[in-house]
Amino acid sequence: MVASEATPFAKSGGLADVVGALSAELLKLGHEVAIVMPRYRRIAWEQTESAFDNMVVYAGSTPYRVDIRKAVHNGVTYFFVEAPYFFDRNGLYDDGGREYGDNHRRFAVLSLAALGVAQTVFPCDILHCHDWQAAMVPIYKADQQHGNPVFDRVRTMLTIHNLGYQGRYGKECFWDLGLNGGWFSPDKLEFHGDLDVLKGGLTMADWLTTVSPTYAREIQTAEGGFGLDPVLRLRSDTLTGILNGVDYEEWDPSTDKLIPANYSPSDLAGKRVCKQQLLGEFGLPADNPDRPLIGIVSRFASQKGFDLIAGLAPFLEESDVQLVVLGSGEWRYEQLFNAWQRQFPEKVGVWIGYNNALSHKIEAGCDLFLMPSLYEPCGLNQIYSLKYGTVPVVRATGGLDDTIQDDTGFKFSWYSTGALYDCLRAALGACRNRDAWKARMIRGMKKDFSWAVSAGEYSRLYEMLLGRD
Ligand code: ADP
Repeated sequence: MVASEATPFAKSGGLADVVGALSAELLKLGHEVAIVMPRYRRIAWEQTESAFDNMVVYAGSTPYRVDIRKAVHNGVTYFFVEAPYFFDRNGLYDDGGREYGDNHRRFAVLSLAALGVAQTVFPCDILHCHDWQAAMVPIYKADQQHGNPVFDRVRTMLTIHNLGYQGRYGKECFWDLGLNGGWFSPDKLEFHGDLDVLKGGLTMADWLTTVSPTYAREIQTAEGGFGLDPVLRLRSDTLTGILNGVDYEEWDPSTDKLIPANYSPSDLAGKRVCKQQLLGEFGLPADNPDRPLIGIVSRFASQKGFDLIAGLAPFLEESDVQLVVLGSGEWRYEQLFNAWQRQFPEKVGVWIGYNNALSHKIEAGCDLFLMPSLYEPCGLNQIYSLKYGTVPVVRATGGLDDTIQDDTGFKFSWYSTGALYDCLRAALGACRNRDAWKARMIRGMKKDFSWAVSAGEYSRLYEMLLGRD
């Protein structure tokens, strides 16, 4: 696996969960798995040990000297690329919202070092690359390793976790990659005069996957393709949608140590305790246990549907509901929620920032979970919500459409505040029938999205790529 983040070492979103959990699950199926990722500042050097010192990789004629460190977690070996000039920084991709100007070079070095790891300490059959940050692996493999017997039988897979992030930069950045000028063409790394790293990977990898069947279809359309739909349509025979699993060792209300009381489908009493405490933690009145509590845990990015949520002030005004929000990101959305907190102090609680423990408490303590995304490759929070008996209200897009059904949650299609409003009203109406609501919660809690199934599908693709099926 080659990725820019993986649990438990560095995480900014679902990508890290997938890389960490899928690797551990593949191990159970009998594969040998290693992850290559950067050693960011937040990963303590002392946690790692030397795997290969003084590896020199070349982007064209430019040499980069890196060390490879390693650590083992859940049986999976993590190889960390030690390159302080690129990775010893506070952020993974940016410093407080401003993207680092050398990301194309940082992740080129990650990809080159991954090939170095495969050449030296971890020979492999499959190089499974994730998102644009690892999309240069198949490119450098073709550019530099042609004729190298070590890589002769190695196959590459590229998984798209979010097509909205492509590593698209000005043409001048292309020259930093040290590739022959022939790579800068519309059927490879060029996108309308710019460098598009992901596009290069999508044209070069042996197989493509994305994280839900519906998203696999959506990215082949003009609406969901972010300009790359023609490339993806050309590759539709070698593109598979595999739904992400979730890690129920972390996310199960019957064992979760981060929530104040455990509960299960057969005994839901603990969920009331969780709700009571959550309201207290947000300083909201907890006088009526039947008043619906809506939760949001999210990156504050427009992809997540905040433009629709921004129109919900009248809904909050007229409804006897409460809302708790955890997230961070775009300033305008932080402002929106802070303003609501001032406007509706009894109804709205806000926590700006990243807080894993609080995200578990919100999943456990709420009645409804709101996720009206504009697009959603897979989405994890709605799957956690099902498990925690917190009924999801989602827009029917990508993985949200694949994981939420009408008997477990509430969905709307048209991307408008009006449609979201109607959907929320329907959910609140259904909430009043306590028995039917409880049955709906329990149906969701019993759904199984564990990794075993998805890992099996990846495993079958690997075997197929190696001609072993
Ligand atoms: P994305 O990867 O697009 O951000 P996903 O739903 O796939 O969306 O995954 C988001 C992951 O990040 C989930 O595990 C979620 O719990 C977590 N998360 C997002 N924002 C926060 C936050 N502010 N605090 C804690 N966890 C968060």
